[in-house]
Amino acid sequence: MYKQDYQKSKTFRLVHNPPFANNYARTLLLLDRGEGCYLFDADGRRYLDFGSGIAVNALGHGREDLAEIAAEQMKKIIHVSNLYTTEAAIQCAGRLMHLGNFDAVYFGNSGTEAVEAALKFARLYALRTRGEGHHRIASFSGAFHGRTMGALSATPTPAYQDPFRPLVPGFQALPYNDIEALERTLDDSFAAVIVEPLQGEGGLRSVSPGFAEALNRICREKDIVLIADEVQTGLGRTGEILASSWAGLNPDLVTLAKPLAGGLPLSAVLVPERINRQIKVGEHASTFGGGPVTTAVAGAVLDIICDAAFIRRVQEAGEYLHERLQDICDRVALAREVRGHGLLAGIAVGYPEKDAKSRMGSLIEKMQERGLLALRSGTNILRIAPPLIIENEQIDEGCEIIASVLAEETE
Ligand code: PLP
Repeated sequence: MYKQDYQKSKTFRLVHNPPFANNYARTLLLLDRGEGCYLFDADGRRYLDFGSGIAVNALGHGREDLAEIAAEQMKKIIHVSNLYTTEAAIQCAGRLMHLGNFDAVYFGNSGTEAVEAALKFARLYALRTRGEGHHRIASFSGAFHGRTMGALSATPTPAYQDPFRPLVPGFQALPYNDIEALERTLDDSFAAVIVEPLQGEGGLRSVSPGFAEALNRICREKDIVLIADEVQTGLGRTGEILASSWAGLNPDLVTLAKPLAGGLPLSAVLVPERINRQIKVGEHASTFGGGPVTTAVAGAVLDIICDAAFIRRVQEAGEYLHERLQDICDRVALAREVRGHGLLAGIAVGYPEKDAKSRMGSLIEKMQERGLLALRSGTNILRIAPPLIIENEQIDEGCEIIASVLAEETE
């Protein structure tokens, strides 16, 4: 049976054995509400949110404006399925198409669904334009594309993949940022390459300029579909609307999800005309994807995020955060290196490889006890992804906690 426990900490509301499947941690913090960049647990204890629900709550918590849009839309109509559509979905798709040279949008509900759709669209494109035998898909070491079988097959981390073999055939993992491996491997048998401009889950590394250039060139020459997975990096998180811009990638398909509907589940694939032309009615679908409530909210989120002044402020906040993190690395022995871009940043922590993962877990728990929620990336990277509306004083507040907790740690 599940129980709430005050014994571990007098002020902490932890839930043990929650009634969820065992794939999630057996002890969870019981959160109750949020306001701006802060969250409150069931006892009213306040936490500064440096995680944004894994890079989702870009506009912070407790947004009356978004709640009102969702409520109004729910009163009108909640769901129509993909047999019909609504003005909200059309408006939202229109805004998304203008993020680049795109002709259409496919809506899903989660990041992994956007990835599945992108992989399937790429295979359709290869099949229709080149015939059979050009279906292979390349991804990269350290990548994270999701948990469904297609996206998982492109996520070459043994702990995620091994229990679920056999995976989908035709996937090959190449070393990230290895131009020679690209040149050697990518041939006519490939339908697609999927790449994160900055690896959010896999250690906050980004594509090098040379690697991005080689990917663009080889994919163009061989008509391989280049998919940028911007589920985590997209929509302002790294200081540009799309991280592909600063990374130098020219993707054919772009996947988006996390911040798109302000915390409601919505994902999207941006599709150019050339690929859209090869997709036939009924070849892919989602019952819930692109529903009126999520797309109505997403329309408002896009209006806010795509404003030039908003993006400028994200860049400033990102620069300030990186300065503060560098300052921690200069002062604290265990803080080895600043990683990331914009407001998807982190610190490489110098724990020995063998127990880095479990020690990172307890490091993040200690920060939580002091009122800061943060994330891990890879084995030893402390990942910080605050709401994009974070103020400099709040960055100071969070960095103080990070510095003090790290300073108490020993190798
Ligand atoms: N792709 C990337 C780059 C991600 O970071 C994630 C999740 O962290 C996913 C895909 C999967 O998204 P979801 O958990 O919404 O299925």
